[in-house]
Amino acid sequence: MSKGLIVQKFGGSSVADVKRIQNVAQRVISYRKKGYDLVVVVSALGDTTDELISLANKINPHPSEREMDMLLSTGEQISVALLAMAIHKLGYKAISFTGAQVGIITDTSHTRARIIKINTDKIKEELKKGKIVIVAGFQGITLNQDITTLGRGGSDLTAVALAKELDAQICQIYTDVEGIYTTDPRIEPKARKLKSITYDEMLEMASLGAQVMQARSIEVAKKFDVNIEVRSSFSQKRGTMITKEAKIMEEVVVRGVTLSKNEAKITICDVPDRPGIAAKIFKELSGGGINVDMIVQNVSHTRKTDISFTVNKNDVDKTMPIVRQTSKMIGAGEVLEDSDIARVSIVGVGMKSHPGVAAKMFEALAKEKINIEMISTSDISISCIIKKKFAETAVRAIHEKFGLGK
Ligand code: ADP
Ligand code: ASP
Ligand code: MG
Repeated sequence: MSKGLIVQKFGGSSVADVKRIQNVAQRVISYRKKGYDLVVVVSALGDTTDELISLANKINPHPSEREMDMLLSTGEQISVALLAMAIHKLGYKAISFTGAQVGIITDTSHTRARIIKINTDKIKEELKKGKIVIVAGFQGITLNQDITTLGRGGSDLTAVALAKELDAQICQIYTDVEGIYTTDPRIEPKARKLKSITYDEMLEMASLGAQVMQARSIEVAKKFDVNIEVRSSFSQKRGTMITKEAKIMEEVVVRGVTLSKNEAKITICDVPDRPGIAAKIFKELSGGGINVDMIVQNVSHTRKTDISFTVNKNDVDKTMPIVRQTSKMIGAGEVLEDSDIARVSIVGVGMKSHPGVAAKMFEALAKEKINIEMISTSDISISCIIKKKFAETAVRAIHEKFGLGK
C-alpha cells in the first residue's frame, strides 16, 4: 500500500557530477523505502544551461527562440537518463521521460512558455507498475509538436505543476542551501533560515531577485495551494515550508532582503513637460513588448524634465531603438543607458501596517554613504536602485538594520 505521492525536484547543483547524481538516487530511494510513490523532476547538470546559451551565442548572437528551446531542453534530457541509470544500479525500478513524453503541453511563447495542460496518464501508468518516474524539468511541447522551455529556473514550475496535477502530498525542492533564508546566505553568512514563509512573500522575494525559487512556480503554487518544502540535497535537515500562512506567533515586519542585478536604467533627458507625453513613451514601449518596471519623473521648473525607468537587462537592445525614436518624435533630448545598477529590496506582509519601514531602510543605506537613485514600493515591499558596486554592502547593512540575522 502506497503512503501517497511526493514530487521531488533536484536543481542543477544537486546533479552537477556523478557523485551527486548517485547521492540523489540514494535520497530518492530512501523515500521509496518508506513507501511513497515518487515523481522526480531534475534540472540540467551544474551550469549546463548557461554553457549551452553561451555556445549558441558564439554561433549566432541572435538565435531563433525555437532553436534555443530545442538546444536548452537537451540539458535536462541528459540528467533524467543518468538519474534513472543511477537508480537502476541500486536495484530499483525507474523510468525517465522528457516533458513532451509526459504530455506537458504549453503555449508557443518560446523560451518562456506557459503550461496549458498536463496529461498525467503516462506517469500514473508507470507509477502503478511500481516505478519511480523521472521527468525532465523546464520543458514542454506545443500542440504543434515544437519543444518549448518554461523560462530560467523553470524546473521549479515543472515540479509544482506536476504536484498539483497529480495531487501530491508535497512538492520538495532540493537545492544547494538548506531552505529560504532572510537573505541570500552567499551574500550574508549571518542570514537566518526561515521555518516557513507565505506564498505572497516568497513570490515577492522571487520576483525581486531571490533565485532560489522561480517566481512563476510560486504563482502556480499559490493558485492551487501546493505545499512546498525547500531543502538541501546535501543534508537531512528540515527546510522551509512555503504555505498560505506562515505559522508564527509574532508579526514580522520585514521577512527578507533581496538583490537583483538584472535590471538596467534608461533615462530620457529634456522631455517636454506636458500632458500625454508619458502616455506616448510607455505606449511605444508596451507596443514593443517591453516590460517597464520602476519609473521616476523629476519635477520640472523649466517645462522640461528627465524620465528614468528600469527594464530587464536582456531587453536593453530591444528598448533603446524604440526609446530613441520616441524621444525624437516628442522633441526630447538624449537617451542614456546605465547597466551599472542593482536593486535591493525588503519584503514582508507585515509592512502594510507599519509606518517608518522605508525610513529605516534609507537610514541603513545612508549610514554606508550609498546614494539611492530610484525608489519603488508595493504593498509588501520597498526597493531602491543603487550603484552595483554597493549591492552586497547594502544587503548586509539593511539585513543588520532590521535585525534579521542569527
Ligand atoms: P537550483 O540549481 O537548485 O535550482 P538555484 O541556484 O536556482 O538552485 O537557487 C539556489 C540559490 O539561491 C542559493 O545557492 C542562493 O545563493 C540563492 N538565494 C538567493 N536568495 C536566497 C534566499 N533568500 N534564501 C536561500 N537562497 C537564496
Ligand atoms: N536548467 C534550467 C535553468 O538553468 C532550468 C532550471 O534549472 O530550473 O534555468
Ligand atoms: Mg533554480
